[in-house]
Amino acid sequence: MSDAFKITFLGTGTSQGIPVIGSNHPVCHSTDPKDKRLRVSLLISWKDYNYVIDCGPDFRQQMLTSQVSKLDGVLFTHEHSDHTAGLDDIRPYFFRQGDIPIYLHKRVADSLKRRFDYIFADENRYPGAPAVAVNLIDKDHRFTIGDVSVMPIEASHNRIKVLGFRIKHFTYLTDVKTISDEEAEKVKGTKFLVVNALREEPHHSHFNLEEALAFIDKIQPEKAYLTHISHMLGFHEEVEKKLPKNVHLAYDNLTLTV
Ligand SMILES: [Zn+2]
Repeated sequence: MSDAFKITFLGTGTSQGIPVIGSNHPVCHSTDPKDKRLRVSLLISWKDYNYVIDCGPDFRQQMLTSQVSKLDGVLFTHEHSDHTAGLDDIRPYFFRQGDIPIYLHKRVADSLKRRFDYIFADENRYPGAPAVAVNLIDKDHRFTIGDVSVMPIEASHNRIKVLGFRIKHFTYLTDVKTISDEEAEKVKGTKFLVVNALREEPHHSHFNLEEALAFIDKIQPEKAYLTHISHMLGFHEEVEKKLPKNVHLAYDNLTLTV
């Protein structure tokens, strides 16, 4: 088996996904499959390992589509529902494998413990409830998944902090509005950078396209991919044509070898 990482974009949409329920926006009626975006999530596979970053409401469909039969763990960027609401659907993995390792900041763990109390319960557990093995992480400490080291990177998503992850020459950052120079320094030297770009108009908690491109320019990766995309950004094909040569819009089920 190869040592290269296979990256699969499981979802590249913003919180409501595309199409938005009931929307008359032309992008929501597009027939281009690249304009259909599930909630944002990423699969990292190498050797026999499969890890996902975030576990949103489309997790079940994403695992079926990408045919992941063994899941080694879930890394969480933050607690918002579009990144966490699918946690119950780890059940098939739990039944086969036992407690599923999750990697998350203490604040995110506290939020999930309130919202999925039955998953975290120590006593009187509901038969059939899944269980997790909690690994607390923070921006100052590397951690290991499988046989590789992960460097967390902290950014701000309006009032809350989010974590991005760097694995060797690959960095994934989503739901970023601002990032300190110190944290951006940790991203430098990365060859493949994934970063969020919501739309052209400014937004209170997400990079718009201009801010995402400015960040990419600062980091200078070989290739960058934009994710967490709103229908308001426009048709995939038209936006893709306007981007700098080394920058692409990600789309659902796009795979990269990094
Ligand atoms: Zn989000």
